[in-house]
Amino acid sequence: MVEVHSAQEAIALEEKYGAHNYHPLPVVLNRGEGVFLWDVEGKRYYDFLSAYSAVNQGHCHPRIIRALTEQAKELTLTSRAFYNDKLGLAERYVCETFGYQKALFMNSGAEANETAIKLARKWGYTKKGIPENKAIIVAAKKNFHGRTTTIISASTDPTARSGFGPFMPGFEIIDYDDVAAINKALANPNVCGLWIEPIQGEAGVYVPQEGYLKAAEAACRKNNVLLMMDEIQTGIARTGKMLASDHEGVRPDMLILGKALSGGVLPVSCVLADDAVMLVIKPGEHGSTFGGNPLAAAVCMEALQVVKDEGLANRADKLGVLFRSRMNALKAKTNKVTLVRGKGLLNAIVINDSPESDTAWNLCMTFAQNGLLAKPTHGNIIRLAPPLVITEEQIHECCDIIEKSVLG
Ligand code: PLP
Repeated sequence: MVEVHSAQEAIALEEKYGAHNYHPLPVVLNRGEGVFLWDVEGKRYYDFLSAYSAVNQGHCHPRIIRALTEQAKELTLTSRAFYNDKLGLAERYVCETFGYQKALFMNSGAEANETAIKLARKWGYTKKGIPENKAIIVAAKKNFHGRTTTIISASTDPTARSGFGPFMPGFEIIDYDDVAAINKALANPNVCGLWIEPIQGEAGVYVPQEGYLKAAEAACRKNNVLLMMDEIQTGIARTGKMLASDHEGVRPDMLILGKALSGGVLPVSCVLADDAVMLVIKPGEHGSTFGGNPLAAAVCMEALQVVKDEGLANRADKLGVLFRSRMNALKAKTNKVTLVRGKGLLNAIVINDSPESDTAWNLCMTFAQNGLLAKPTHGNIIRLAPPLVITEEQIHECCDIIEKSVLG
């Protein structure tokens, strides 16, 4: 196998031959295990990004890797032109785990959101009686649902949108965490879906007021609108419950999952809904060559079973409380940190500088020097989200690293 000989070489290769659509921290990783990552020079880091919450179960979890390799030796892909012996099992598993009648597997998170959009529109026309091509999906400012041209049509982030028009019509954008705005928007009879994240992760871990999700659910029921909950980042135990919606006892009409559905091993996403919604899509109207492949199905079942067997939701809940208390204690010691927020082990600190400054970036460089990897989101916000298999002792050690780095 061809190998790189240095970090510089790996970075130079990406720079020369790769598209410049990311701005990574200059760390070149070649191994992961549990909460740890190692760079090509053998330096060990705590991973505080978890591949944007895809590796909740920790890097290369042995049980998930075993499920992957055993299935890979048998059968990886058949396409949906034929049945395979794993898909039905995985569909039943996710339906029973999350309490829905039907599942539709895709690959990336963006594809799952695209699927949810199509389902909502089709339901709007065939069940709600919305006139053809008039369906509206209500989304929130500062959302992040992925990168496709349809999804960015609902984005309010200029970096995500600029230069990529024309945009897809049929979205109305309202303020996040604003119940009155939901009630007003949903009164329009052409609205088929309310599409929100229970916590806006990518925007900087914005946690809405308690009661927001419940009020959103009530508004959807009242106005015959589908609640489309994007739990791609917040789901699968990240926020201290299996789903962030569970904190308010909310059951979305469409639950959109991705990332940790495979423990970060391969792209697996899905939409869950009941028959009344899912069966509006008929054979030939939607699909994906890789969606629902037996390799993904086997990995997904094991990845979710690991979350349950290891009690990762409870662990995230308990350690999240500890983590925020340590971060709040740090905030009290310095004016460099202005805010600490989050739920479970999805947290962020806000750095006392403008989003345009490089203070947060430089702080993340210092974190890396001190053995912890994190990255700013939207300038001056640093998201802190370790794999959920982290121990209490390790959380303390990481808080010490963060404290040392901030206080200099
Ligand atoms: N939705 C949310 C809430 C996300 O956080 C992300 C990714 O960060 C996505 C959708 C997109 O997922 P993917 O990058 O797998 O397409």
